[in-house]
Amino acid sequence: MQIRFWGTRGSIAQPGPATLRFGGNTSCVEVRADDGTLIVVDCGTGAHRLGKMLAASPEPVSGNLLIGHTHWDHIQGFPFFAPLFVAGSRWDVYAPGGGDRKLQSALAGQMSYEYSPINLDALSADVTYHDLTEGVFEIGPVRVTTQYLNHPALTLGFRFETDEATAIYACDHEPHSLHPLNAPAGAEPIHHEDRRHTRFLEGADVVIHDAQYTLDDFPLKAGWGHTPLERCVDYAILAKTPHLVFTHHDPDRDDEAIDALLDAARERAASADFCPLVDAAAEGMTIEVSRHGRPRSHRAPSIRSEGSALLSVSPRRASTVLIVDDDPDMVLLLETTLRADGIRVLTAVDGDSALEVARENRPTLIMLDLELPSRHGLEVCRAIRAEPDPRLRDAPILILTGLKLKETDIVDAFTAGATDYLTKPIKPTLVRSRVRGWLLRTSGA
Ligand SMILES: [Zn+2]
Ligand SMILES: [Zn+2]
Repeated sequence: MQIRFWGTRGSIAQPGPATLRFGGNTSCVEVRADDGTLIVVDCGTGAHRLGKMLAASPEPVSGNLLIGHTHWDHIQGFPFFAPLFVAGSRWDVYAPGGGDRKLQSALAGQMSYEYSPINLDALSADVTYHDLTEGVFEIGPVRVTTQYLNHPALTLGFRFETDEATAIYACDHEPHSLHPLNAPAGAEPIHHEDRRHTRFLEGADVVIHDAQYTLDDFPLKAGWGHTPLERCVDYAILAKTPHLVFTHHDPDRDDEAIDALLDAARERAASADFCPLVDAAAEGMTIEVSRHGRPRSHRAPSIRSEGSALLSVSPRRASTVLIVDDDPDMVLLLETTLRADGIRVLTAVDGDSALEVARENRPTLIMLDLELPSRHGLEVCRAIRAEPDPRLRDAPILILTGLKLKETDIVDAFTAGATDYLTKPIKPTLVRSRVRGWLLRTSGA
């Protein structure tokens, strides 16, 4: 398997003399299987030059375009990707969706009359759009496994496996929790979802991962949906990744700043028992991915996503979310946010009525404040986990809290049966993607 970087920048393109070495174009990576199968991952501005190279071929070039999410820095190259304008070529375009043609409308939106001289109907290639959820699908000899990332838009990470090699692409992603704080490099995360993320990375020969920020940046950047470099290195140590390539470089960092990050990342890696090779992604950089001499049996299995990642476009049953909070402003914010996504919302203001409403309606997901009148949130959580009806007992519970949680509080919440937690102030875009991800994972909504 061969990987080539065409765009390594996050958020906005940043061309100029200060970014010549690591590159100024936004996300785009070319993955080639040994039989020539072409997968383009993300379609930021870097896709323009890749497209020119492909379109220069005497024969129409067909391929597969995988988009982790549809923020601008991952799709702005789409209207400029030349192979899409070559008659006789065939392109399959994949991105996370809800089974309601969201991908096609998101791409058409940025190409509408106000923004673009060419609309989506003008593409000459035979293009098929596929909405994805978590699961597995195949592209030629490549088995692709998808897993949701934590970002303020529904976002998938991709795992590419062939008989010869495994590569992971995980952009854009924020740890669910930074706990344990001040831990040595490679410490196991506290949050279930962070552990699940590292399991997704296990067994890969190369991991390409978002590291737009550092822990020092985080007081201002929490909730923006990106990984601090230190945690990115920790993931590679934990997952025993032989080769980590960090990418999605912040537009405010010039080449020298990325050199400094690379030194810091290598130093952190060297302090652990298992020391991954660390590189910073650079435009034009090519990697031959192989198993680094490890026998195949030592490869960790991919996550147990037995189901297909391909969503059908038929309309699905509406999901119901129960919001339990005694703060009317918070309830209004959450209700408005979720209703915009077509979700049916129920509310309760104290622990007793929460249990009543939950038993009567069996919501698909419960958002639960901790400090409630009549019963504490954790008590409600434990009561739901003890219910006889599995449809209620197994519903995901997202804890909401305005408290700055200590490590022990988080452990208590998980012990009581919480699935996940969100800390106030709550960012509506993050709530929307997190809830949508849970609904898709648990009920196929
Ligand atoms: Zn991005
Ligand atoms: Zn993004």
